[in-house]
Amino acid sequence: MTANRLARLIPQDVRSGSVEIIVINDVTSHLYQPGLLYVALDLAFPENFKKPQKQVLLPGVQNLVDPCVHISLSDREVICQSGKKIEYDILVIATGSVPDFDAIEGFREGAESFYTYNEAMHLRERIQTFDQGKLLLIIGVPHKCPVAPLEFIFMLDDKLRKTAKRDQVNLYYTYPIGRLHSLEHVATWAENEFERRNISSEIFFNAESIDPSRKKVFTLEGEEVDYDLLVGIPPHKGAKIIRDSKVAEGDGWIPTDRQTLQMKGQQGVYVVGDATDLPISKAGSTAHYESEVIAANIAKELRGEQPVAAYNGKVFCFIEAGLEEATHIEFDYQNPPTPSIQGPLVHDFKLAFNEMYWLSLRGLV
Ligand SMILES: Cc1cc2nc3c(=O)[nH]c(=O)nc-3n(C[C@H](O)[C@H](O)[C@H](O)COP(=O)(O)OP(=O)(O)OC[C@H]3O[C@@H](n4cnc5c(N)ncnc54)[C@H](O)[C@@H]3O)c2cc1C
Repeated sequence: MTANRLARLIPQDVRSGSVEIIVINDVTSHLYQPGLLYVALDLAFPENFKKPQKQVLLPGVQNLVDPCVHISLSDREVICQSGKKIEYDILVIATGSVPDFDAIEGFREGAESFYTYNEAMHLRERIQTFDQGKLLLIIGVPHKCPVAPLEFIFMLDDKLRKTAKRDQVNLYYTYPIGRLHSLEHVATWAENEFERRNISSEIFFNAESIDPSRKKVFTLEGEEVDYDLLVGIPPHKGAKIIRDSKVAEGDGWIPTDRQTLQMKGQQGVYVVGDATDLPISKAGSTAHYESEVIAANIAKELRGEQPVAAYNGKVFCFIEAGLEEATHIEFDYQNPPTPSIQGPLVHDFKLAFNEMYWLSLRGLV
């Protein structure tokens, strides 16, 4: 999105070749990750959410599929798996975040998830035949799309009701802190929804390990909890390349200026999306709004002008509240989110955006 927006802002430079925009990726197709929710619940076909990477980039933007194995900020170069070295004047880091499936012992063997393509496809099969027992949902923070676990539980609740299986299933949602969600107003909203739908929940629930043979989760709080089907979202980390190249310490979140989106202490290096260490939701919409700022500022820099666009922390998320209704939240650094207007129209908007995403990726909406 950042590359496409930039190409739109400086068409002559791109056409003449005076500016080269190269997107380096490690996969050939682009996955619309929000679609995984619908895939896992068997509500959509997976191929709807994938397109070849080169199809989503505008003409003039180069698509290099060659995983990056090292980033050298001091030499201003990126080294790819093939051995190719690419020098840069301006670098945009958009390496995202990854679920750490090893953070909870036994997770890989014992838990289902829907945060990667393969996991979602696997869970889809389990959901197709799950019609009785206890579904336990465990969540580790931070993770991308903070509202997706709530969406999952509300949509599943509705799906089970529609097939008259809800009475045989205990939906059991857990959250690691002292309320149902990290965003306070969302937690309050969810509490009411849980009551209305008879969804069980437990707070201060931090899974430490899983024993798949006994179908038990052990928590840091000292509990031992049974399940029939375990679904989990493990805590996330920054991409491996960021940690391996020491671009960021610890869990690999890149120190980023909250307004300019430049990497702290690094001239001409920008960070977009999940990769930042900003205290805001890791969401596609965050990346969307950030990309507007970054593309505008790079275009300015290339003209020798002052980059003045500033990111205000804007995030917009639809929240599915079942199979036919949704709400939404909008917030920024100054204004906290409050779910408002819930109903079928918002759900229709979410479905429409799932289609429109491909246009927004091209910088059109
Ligand atoms: C189930 C689910 C539901 C979601 N729902 C929503 C939603 O409704 N709304 C919303 O706003 N957000 C949602 N999100 C979150 C959203 O998908 C992410 O926040 C968004 O994709 C982040 O964009 P990004 O560009 O930072 O990272 P990504 O989209 O993850 O892209 C990172 C890219 O970097 C590539 N990469 C990593 N390492 C290397 C390397 N070494 N070399 C080359 N390439 C590399 C990866 O392959 C990937 O293509 C959802 C996510 C999930 C999983």
